[in-house]
Amino acid sequence: MELIFLGTSAGVPTRSRNVTAMLLDLQHPTRAGLWLFDCGEGTQHRLLHTAYHPGKLDKIFITHLHGDHLFGLPGLLCSRSMAGNASPLTIYGPAGIREFVETTLRLSGSWTDYPMEVVEITEGVVFEDAFYTVTAEPLNHPVECYGYRVDEHDRPGALDAAALIADGIKPGPLFQRLKQGETVTLDDGRVVKGQDYLSAPLPGKKLAIFGDTAPCPGALRLAQGVDVMVHEATLETAMEEKANGRGHSSTRQAAQLARDAGAGKLIVTHVSSRYDARGCASLLAECREVFANCELAEDFAQVSV
Ligand code: ZN
Repeated sequence: MELIFLGTSAGVPTRSRNVTAMLLDLQHPTRAGLWLFDCGEGTQHRLLHTAYHPGKLDKIFITHLHGDHLFGLPGLLCSRSMAGNASPLTIYGPAGIREFVETTLRLSGSWTDYPMEVVEITEGVVFEDAFYTVTAEPLNHPVECYGYRVDEHDRPGALDAAALIADGIKPGPLFQRLKQGETVTLDDGRVVKGQDYLSAPLPGKKLAIFGDTAPCPGALRLAQGVDVMVHEATLETAMEEKANGRGHSSTRQAAQLARDAGAGKLIVTHVSSRYDARGCASLLAECREVFANCELAEDFAQVSV
């Protein structure tokens, strides 16, 4: 998976940071997918500076309905339509997301000419297919807000074709079934177990993307053992009380959570517009004091999961 930050500023955009949005390119060998997490104002403009086309988006996950995470959605949905793309799109978000989408499109005389489904989520599994499970966890913010956890399912190990051939089994469509771990009976009556010819399964990648939040118990569940954890660090440690009072976290709190959850890597984002480049370097240093494998996201930064 590749994660691309399209906006990393809290509340308002700055010249170098737009408001929140993240793009996830699944890059799965058999399941194409381009997902967007949050859609602050101007997200479609940010997309224009990447290699990605809005028509390729198949899922949008909204953490909460605050404008700096949402106001880019109507424009993006309409542009996706004007581009003449007819592929289906599903939008996930808290209660109210459907009314927001329907109302903004209706009042502006807009429409979409592709199948669009809006799913109002609650805690738990919000999406699952043969390759991925996406789980939502409620967070601690003044409005209903969720974090999303993306679990890629383990992939079957590699098939040892040489061993099969050595055992007198001819290559063909049969190999595909054996690769899926199936047991097959050959024409000569022999029973061949796919599992006997597979290497160990490849563990799936795990990613947690937090919405805005003050520390909360569910956060640990969301981030437990993930490869990459994306969390807000709106304010510095000295301003922790102020951050928490507004439903946000400090640098230290984000880093403590990454440490406690056993995350592989922490990316902090959603930084207050009060911080310039030097201020951001100081925020990152505060995080690294607690959790060394940490980066502070810049707009257009790309992270491999
Ligand atoms: Zn918010």
